[in-house]
Amino acid sequence: MANIYRGSCLCAAVKYELRSAPQAVSHCHCSQCRKGHGAAFASYGSVPRDALRIADGVECIKAYASSETVVRQFCSHCGSTLFWSRTQGAFADWICVALGTLDTPFTPHKHKHVHLDAKAPWFEHAD
Ligand SMILES: [Zn+2]
Ligand SMILES: [Zn+2]
Repeated sequence: MANIYRGSCLCAAVKYELRSAPQAVSHCHCSQCRKGHGAAFASYGSVPRDALRIADGVECIKAYASSETVVRQFCSHCGSTLFWSRTQGAFADWICVALGTLDTPFTPHKHKHVHLDAKAPWFEHAD
């Protein structure tokens, strides 16, 4: 039986399940991810859209189109960032999950930092 990964937002109004392990784990330092999370970077992993099931609180999820091709979804009660996805193109059938919202322990085999050129000046990257 495949592992199911469960996650939720800060207020727990939104609960979701992933029927596949997040892939292509990356820590994004771009200015949009920094602002969206209020943090030095955002950690995301991707799953096929049909591997994500919203178990609870789908009515609490709001979406913000941060660009013409990117939609970011968050909990409208507590503001937790949950997902982002592309609305068109090659990866439109994937959804990126904010890994900080996972409740099931998950250790990626590998991960990478991206858009370090846009990183916050106060963040020291040690690799
Ligand atoms: Zn919430
Ligand atoms: Zn980013």
